[in-house]
Amino acid sequence: LERIEETEPKLNAYITVTDEKARRKAKVADEELTRLSEDEVPELFGIPISIKDNINVENVRMTCASKILENFVSPYDATVVKRLRERGAIFVGKNNLDEFAMGSSTETSYFGPTRNPWDLERVPGGSSGGSAAAVAARSALASLGSDTGGSIRQPAAFCGVVGLKPTYGRVSRYGLTAFASSLDQIGPITKSVEDAAYLLNVISGQDSKDATSAKVPVPNFLEALNGEVKGLKAGVPKEYFIEGIDPQVKESVLNAIKLLEKLGVEVREVSLPNTKYAVETYYIIAPAEASSNLGRYDGVRYTFRAENYKDLIDMYCKTRAEGFGDEVKRRIMIGTYTLSAGYYDAYYLRAQKVRTLIYQGFQNAFSEVDFLVTPVTPETAFKIGEKTDDPIKMYLSDIFTIAVNLAGLPAISLPCGFDDKGLPIGVQLIGKAFDEGTILKVANVLE
Ligand code: GLN
Repeated sequence: LERIEETEPKLNAYITVTDEKARRKAKVADEELTRLSEDEVPELFGIPISIKDNINVENVRMTCASKILENFVSPYDATVVKRLRERGAIFVGKNNLDEFAMGSSTETSYFGPTRNPWDLERVPGGSSGGSAAAVAARSALASLGSDTGGSIRQPAAFCGVVGLKPTYGRVSRYGLTAFASSLDQIGPITKSVEDAAYLLNVISGQDSKDATSAKVPVPNFLEALNGEVKGLKAGVPKEYFIEGIDPQVKESVLNAIKLLEKLGVEVREVSLPNTKYAVETYYIIAPAEASSNLGRYDGVRYTFRAENYKDLIDMYCKTRAEGFGDEVKRRIMIGTYTLSAGYYDAYYLRAQKVRTLIYQGFQNAFSEVDFLVTPVTPETAFKIGEKTDDPIKMYLSDIFTIAVNLAGLPAISLPCGFDDKGLPIGVQLIGKAFDEGTILKVANVLE
């Protein structure tokens, strides 16, 4: 909490700090500790964790960084939060994000941008920028973020920390505010690969409250860390080393690949031919789902309602016009358009077919290799304001992370070097569905 006080004036990584609650919990924990024997102490006992502000924590404000939820206080815990709480974690606050997790820079937040701890003139990435900045600045030991198209991995790369997007269905989405339900997953942002494994152990597993959470066994990911990497096969997709990628990013990632080879990993080139359609496909599917999911913010439920209106329809219109920011409105309009009669077949249905092709491309690659190695981002952290006037430029910053969500696969981003400005560079490891163990194991040796 002292560290938060020290860093927040510069970073703005938190929307809400649950100072008093956390202190009270810590005091109780201190007392409890004197009574408990060593093996009675739960594995996250007293560990200070922050949570992205689109995930519900009971009796704490949850804003999604939007005016429309500015004063919404959550009546319940998300399943992930409940599971962390049961293991003794203490929540220190709610992290800043792009409004409704739509963005790659944390600049669309109603509560102002978060700054990158490595260079305060630069963005921390997004949308989980507050989480990544907090972990990088040590104002949280770990955080939970959400990843719809890269929102855990890209900010982790920009801030020099570890970010893991689990397989779709590995972690319950109950209590995560829906953005694009077929793509959203919650995952850990941490200082180390080991911490990511700790958190994944706790938050994973089927949940009766989320019908898309998968009934598959959850291995012990900490044990997975100790395995051998020798003999594993790594694929390097040639489509991920395109023109336009910063040469320093490319070099650092290639160095990581060389290191893997030295450790006995067999490296081969693979092809993911439909990669070039991933961003376009995502920007049809994600806004389509968002336009439907965000229909619930109507001024009747939740908190914000416009003041002067003539009738019900006028109240809806004014509430949404005043409550949502520009990027959210843009997504709602695109989504409403692509789902409308007459355009549905040409856009939404077509995008779903391309999504299947992208998925099949990964399946083909995984018939040859155990995991894939790619850059996380084409460049290191950009300047605040640099891309805000050009949504397409902003969308392209997720070019290497988005296909993973379309295919539902797990992927981890971890630091692999610095550029000449001293900014962190990340490398991405993509795994087979439900095989987070392999990418964690490989990440652990690369760290
Ligand atoms: N940057 C992407 C978007 O704006 C991904 C966001 C996310 O993963 N939540 O939609």
